[in-house]
Amino acid sequence: ARWSTEQGWHDARLEPYHPVELDPATTVLHYGQAIFEGLKAYHQPDGSIASFRPWANATRFQDSARRLAMPELPEETFLDSLRELVSVDNQWVPTEGESSLYLRPFMISTERTLGVNRPAGSYLYMLIASPAGSYFASGVKPVTVWLSREYARASPGGTGAAKFAGNYAASFVAQTQAAEQGCDQVVWLDAVERRAVEEMGGMNLFFVLGSGAEARLVTPELTGSLLPGITRSSLLRMGERLGLEVEERRITTEEWEQKARSGEITEVFACGTAAVITPVGKVKHSDGEFTIGDGAPGELTMKLREQLTGIQYGKLPDPEGWMTKLA
Ligand code: PMP
Repeated sequence: ARWSTEQGWHDARLEPYHPVELDPATTVLHYGQAIFEGLKAYHQPDGSIASFRPWANATRFQDSARRLAMPELPEETFLDSLRELVSVDNQWVPTEGESSLYLRPFMISTERTLGVNRPAGSYLYMLIASPAGSYFASGVKPVTVWLSREYARASPGGTGAAKFAGNYAASFVAQTQAAEQGCDQVVWLDAVERRAVEEMGGMNLFFVLGSGAEARLVTPELTGSLLPGITRSSLLRMGERLGLEVEERRITTEEWEQKARSGEITEVFACGTAAVITPVGKVKHSDGEFTIGDGAPGELTMKLREQLTGIQYGKLPDPEGWMTKLA
């Protein structure tokens, strides 16, 4: 669908996948006004196709649009686009294990001007899809992460809480650095002190303190510079349902290292639409490294993973009504 100052949203249509032609002076190519979402559609046992909390993605897309001075796409239009695409694009292979259709809604500015002083007056919303398996090549094998003390992802007052393309562009250099250190992912710290843990490239982080009936779930609080993940908020709710104490608060790298070494932090995992729930086994930084527990996937991590994927694939009850039928 297209948006212009004169017409608002118009011209919504379903088309075969094809390249998009853009004038070289199109503003998105120069000033990067681009936002996106990521969600998945899953085959359900009754033959229908459903998505996990798509209304939450619709709302976050509007939040991102406001932050980037772009027009809000009505939530109903966002949902309609998902339904329409899935009505024709529903033949991905429903293998055993994890197979889903990754849905990528996005919006770019399309005005042709080199003027930089105001938001563009025309935009294009698109939705594409791709079959998805496991995000990490290693499946649910624990990942090794790199604490990024040199680079920050998002600053106070910046765009970190939006799903804005530039946030990801800004993170590639640290991701390369992490790979050079033998790490799978970067852990972003707060931009001011580089002490408080924020999130990873496409995932939020959770810490398990204690174990068994005493286990507590801790996740970094939303400071305005990390993405309010939908998996994150769902796991906070699931944790409560399991009778766990859940906490959103500041957690520093010192606390992480100290409590991992003393055994008080028993598990750490990352979560997101693409990564689902992925255990963190080892942490590296410029002065050394430490492991989480014995480095193997934690018990609660795997239990939450089973619960979450059980709901998404329609194999477990969905007490919160999180699944929305698309087709
Ligand atoms: N943080 C960032 C930076 C992300 O890109 C994502 C993926 N959308 C997440 C966290 C996890 O969010 P969600 O659970 O909504 O996929």
